[in-house]
Amino acid sequence: MNIATAAVIVTSPDRNFVTLKLTTDDGLVGWGDATLNGRELSVASYLTDHVVPLLIGRDAHRIEDTWQFLYRSAYWRRGPVTMAAIAAVDVALWDLKAKAAGMPLYQLLGGASRNGLMAYGHASGRDQEELFDSIRLRLDQGFRSIRVQTSIPGIDAVYGVRAPAGDEPTRYEPAQRSAQPMEEDWDTRAYLRHIPTVFEAVRNEFGPELPLLHDVHHRLTPIQAARLGKDLEPYDLFWMEDCTPAENQDALRLVRSHTTTPLAIGEVFNTIWDYQTLIKDQLIDYVRSAVTHTGGITAMRKLLDYAAQYQIKSGIHGPTDISPVGMAAGLHLDLAIHNFGIQEYMQHGDLTNEVFRQTFTFTKGYLHPGNEPGLGVELDEEAATKYPYKPAYLPYNRLKDGTVHDW
Ligand SMILES: [Mg+2]
Repeated sequence: MNIATAAVIVTSPDRNFVTLKLTTDDGLVGWGDATLNGRELSVASYLTDHVVPLLIGRDAHRIEDTWQFLYRSAYWRRGPVTMAAIAAVDVALWDLKAKAAGMPLYQLLGGASRNGLMAYGHASGRDQEELFDSIRLRLDQGFRSIRVQTSIPGIDAVYGVRAPAGDEPTRYEPAQRSAQPMEEDWDTRAYLRHIPTVFEAVRNEFGPELPLLHDVHHRLTPIQAARLGKDLEPYDLFWMEDCTPAENQDALRLVRSHTTTPLAIGEVFNTIWDYQTLIKDQLIDYVRSAVTHTGGITAMRKLLDYAAQYQIKSGIHGPTDISPVGMAAGLHLDLAIHNFGIQEYMQHGDLTNEVFRQTFTFTKGYLHPGNEPGLGVELDEEAATKYPYKPAYLPYNRLKDGTVHDW
């Protein structure tokens, strides 16, 4: 089973996606997600110019060897572009191996450790009424765990809150199609005052059982994050996510020493090394990496097995910039590992679902990757050609005085 052709497909149905297609000499097709939100063409070039020529003629069964070859032979290690490219190759090779075996991928990873994967949905609102409506809508859709984000009085535009009325009520897409990133604003003191009152109101309305999550999105200093974690303790959060920009892993030590609110981090990380201190010193509770941004199934399995030794669980990143191929890769891994925690599920739009034919299911709050051989996702190349790439970028933040701030 040698690789005969490798092609990179860039398509933009609801948003931009980069997909790697590997075809073997016996005609099997494997798919890998190479999407890096806002930097899509960099990964497409990395693959097309530097990786595709290396893949032709390689034995598609040799997944570990190919991973090590791509990681070590480039000399330059790590980084989001490199690791997204390696992940795309790795996931496509696992798709091929599982198709060759005639099994869903999770069977090759050890088989199912559970019947389904608890998923959390996103709820948001510009005020309490909108937020409560949004939570009720998610509950009606079957979600049994909810991420809560709200507007903050005094801040005009904030991460995680849907666009003003007129848009579809459940859709939130942070990356905007434009030539430059949109500007949002930020006020930490206003945020820290407001968020505990939101969770108090949500608990009073929806009761103590519902698992609630919140994404701080890297915007606090360690001592501010410590305070927020303490202030949210009465509302029993499932997790507080990305409370600081965690290039400095020791920041989490300070947060941890002040609060029992569980901590999740890592959607912008791309290797096991980014977690070394966080895991060994038990500074976090959930690993937020995406399979697609962290070197694929091969690397994520090692990372999550390392985390398992410390009772740290998975919380695989599942926003809309992870394509259905990348989502499926995460779901197969979720189903197989023992230390599954929860899976984010942001739900793709109709155009994306037209381009990517999927077999994973969402039933009564639980995701399942399905039982088709491989990943269970196929890209419709004819449909993909209808949606050419359009530049789109994530927003960025400025403080009131104009200083650029973490978004
Ligand atoms: Mg996040």
